[in-house]
Amino acid sequence: MNRYSGERTTVTIDPDKTALFLDKNLKKSTFLDRPEACPFFRFIPEEEKGYCSVHATRPEICRDYGCWRMLILDSSGRRAGRIMESRHLGSDDPVLLAIFAERAHLLEKLSDFDWDDAVIRMIRSAGYLVRT
Ligand code: SF4
Repeated sequence: MNRYSGERTTVTIDPDKTALFLDKNLKKSTFLDRPEACPFFRFIPEEEKGYCSVHATRPEICRDYGCWRMLILDSSGRRAGRIMESRHLGSDDPVLLAIFAERAHLLEKLSDFDWDDAVIRMIRSAGYLVRT
């Protein structure tokens, strides 16, 4: 239940995030640093990345928020794009769009974890900066 809106939503742990969600040490460290965090959020310090463990079935309010998971900056620090939702690129940078148009289909079969890592490597090798 959303403690702010009172809205109830049934969610399911994403199959590829079950171990992440059940990891007791990760749960402890996530909420030690972020006591107000959503119960489905997990943060991996080594990766400096946060994950929604119910991403596929997350509530409507989370989908509507339209936040980004990865911020992509060009070499001068200008915003070039964002990865939103699971794998959506929001960008008006023609080079970045061309990179994704040419190569993103090669990553389709990867898990969400592996997709993130592969996309970050792909973007960085093209000279962009990535913030997660
Ligand atoms: S996207 Fe929504 S359900 Fe997922 S961690 Fe964030 S607040 Fe929780």
